[in-house]
Amino acid sequence: MTRAFNFSAGPATLPESVLRQAQEEMLEWRGVGASVVEISHRSAEFIALAAETEADLRRLLSIPDNYAVLFTAGGATTQQALLPLNFASPGQRADYVLTGHWGKTAVKQARPYVDVNVAADGEVDGYHDIPPRAEWKLSDDAAYVHITANETIHGVEFRDIPDVGNVPLVADFSSSIASEPLDVSRFGLIYAGAQKNLGPVGISVMIVRRDLLERAGQPRADIFDYRSHAARDSMLNTPPTWNWYLLGLTVKWMLAEGGVTEFASRNAAKSAAVYEAIDGSGGFYRNEIAPAARSRMNIPFFLPDDTLTSRFLTESREAGLLALKGHKALGGLRASLYNAMPLAGAQGLAGFMRDFQQRHG
Ligand code: PMP
Repeated sequence: MTRAFNFSAGPATLPESVLRQAQEEMLEWRGVGASVVEISHRSAEFIALAAETEADLRRLLSIPDNYAVLFTAGGATTQQALLPLNFASPGQRADYVLTGHWGKTAVKQARPYVDVNVAADGEVDGYHDIPPRAEWKLSDDAAYVHITANETIHGVEFRDIPDVGNVPLVADFSSSIASEPLDVSRFGLIYAGAQKNLGPVGISVMIVRRDLLERAGQPRADIFDYRSHAARDSMLNTPPTWNWYLLGLTVKWMLAEGGVTEFASRNAAKSAAVYEAIDGSGGFYRNEIAPAARSRMNIPFFLPDDTLTSRFLTESREAGLLALKGHKALGGLRASLYNAMPLAGAQGLAGFMRDFQQRHG
């Protein structure tokens, strides 16, 4: 079988050149006589790889020096629990703006540790839009304000960074990091699980303003302490070395392709192709997100009935378009268009959608 276009929401498609390089280096890496997964994370070679990956990521995302970059095991959900432990005192207020499912998981993980204030919740209109900034009920004394930059399931994306005054803005960028240029200095903390735009599952990236690492936070084990991870270059214990290596290859690929400016234009073109197929279908396909909040990364869309949806899934798979099933929370269909998805994939999907409509519409 040849490689299909894979629209999975995560773990997701990776650049073919990254997979080929990993394949070539599987048995023997950089002249060390072993695979990268077989050597110590304390070896000079792995420490060099870790430093190189951090430097590459700093270049890719233009991360200022007053931000630490942490690489940790585990996914974004773990970070949603560690966030209040590190940056809020016990029972302190923390503001959350909900624009979909993942904002709700962030609240669920934080509740044992902070006084959660849901400052705005898009659920009242089915998470079809971002609640207007003027209506957010932010607290004066919040430890931080949390947003989900891109809601992977609901397909809602912040297109502007909201102004939250002097309270640190914390953003879950799991499904949109490195998809376009970003002013990191507007945030206190950016976190992202890697398995969409940065590489494989099993590693997360934290970009944290260094002054926040001085906060006392709450009693916690050393392994849950961001400060300790920062002090030990994310090698407090054995890190997920293979994932780190694959993330490093993916970041190098993004730099070689032209960096975040290039991906911004590719991602705009890819999402436009799919939204055009939806909007031009006369209601056969539906995406109900307010145009200004439509995600460029994850496009949920719906057909008139379940029979057509399962036919669409069968026929699209046969046409080499994989993993278009919607998340179970919403049903329907979803196309994820991360950086590693080529324009030809999005155009192929749009063409298939038109063809499917002609046959079944
Ligand atoms: N936040 C967002 C925006 C996500 O898309 C996901 C996973 N799809 C998560 C958090 C949870 O990530 P993980 O499963 O790696 O904990």
